[in-house]
Amino acid sequence: MTRVPFLDLRAAYLELKPEVDAAVARVLDSGWYIGGQEVGAFEAEFARYCEAEHAIGVGNGLDALVLALRALDIGAGDEVLVPSNTYIATWLAVSQVGARPVPVEPDPITHTMDPALVEAAITPRTRAVLPVHLYGHPADLDPILDVARRHGLRVVEDAAQCHGARYKGRRIGGHGDLVCWSFYPGKNLGAFGDAGAVTTNDPSLAERVRLLGNYGSRLKYVHLEKGVNSRLDPILAAVLRAKLTHLDTWNDRRRAMAARYGEALAGTGLVLPQAAPWAEPVWHLYVIRNSCRDELQRQLGELGIGTLIHYPIPPHRQEAYADLAPSLPPAPIAEQLALEVLSLPIGPHLSAEQQDAVLEAMHRAVARLPDAG
Ligand SMILES: *Cc1c(COP(=O)(O)O)cnc(C)c1O
Repeated sequence: MTRVPFLDLRAAYLELKPEVDAAVARVLDSGWYIGGQEVGAFEAEFARYCEAEHAIGVGNGLDALVLALRALDIGAGDEVLVPSNTYIATWLAVSQVGARPVPVEPDPITHTMDPALVEAAITPRTRAVLPVHLYGHPADLDPILDVARRHGLRVVEDAAQCHGARYKGRRIGGHGDLVCWSFYPGKNLGAFGDAGAVTTNDPSLAERVRLLGNYGSRLKYVHLEKGVNSRLDPILAAVLRAKLTHLDTWNDRRRAMAARYGEALAGTGLVLPQAAPWAEPVWHLYVIRNSCRDELQRQLGELGIGTLIHYPIPPHRQEAYADLAPSLPPAPIAEQLALEVLSLPIGPHLSAEQQDAVLEAMHRAVARLPDAG
């Protein structure tokens, strides 16, 4: 039996070991361990990659979101529209600045915020819309930007899962006011530790994010605002520079794998992920749906295939949001998705043999499901 782990981060390191080791050694050798030229070079390279004017390295993806909201002066008394189905970080960022997350249900095909539901969720307190490009698939930005413009709202994007994705031909990175990235190790562009960035085309917002993430200081020992310490580590910036040059190749491998899953699993009765016509997704996750998800996951586990659920409990059902839950609108789509989604192994370092093993196990497991095909 070929065992297939859900994710093998060491394989990604081994492919680039000489480059990564040299990058780390270069920083250690430089004697410069906070900020500096590696961070500046990565910021310039990542901005260019995202087709954005500015990139600011920060400590992690959650901080990227928090700093973006603070840069827009969003805080106590404000409301921010967030997806009802997302990783909890999207909501926590809104809560951290003292604002209130207001959930909007997803389109069940793309799993991203349904633009048709945005307008109805707007109140006089709404300040921003925060779509998430979930699983590597862009949210439908144009109608969201349009509603936001008509109501004078800002748009902050959670791009933690979509490095390299395109919306109507243009890279994610500069559609909204501020675009927030995570380089958590398992992301399409992942560091060896926590890291993040914000991209934008607005120079004054870029400057404000940079200030807030650096103790509110531009000039050493001169503090203009009550900022925080959330900076991109130069060792990780050097690693990210090396990995960025491989990102397109790796995303191509993910695309090929997604296409193969799509062909091989058609006709199984499982709901398979689809790309919207305006989207070029980068398949951070390959998420199928089935009403017997738990049984399917159990069977696959017995056959040696690692799977995960993104995400088993929607934010409004988390104990962390027990205070807010009673006053939130119902979110039946998010709840249904949480019961049915299952992520199969996918990634640039999964071999063709491993994908064969996943598919063989999938066919065996599906045949045993009560309501198969
Ligand atoms: C990973 C992730 C984050 C948070 O990133 P960290 O770097 O782990 O803080 C935020 N939003 C989404 C959708 C994510 O997947």
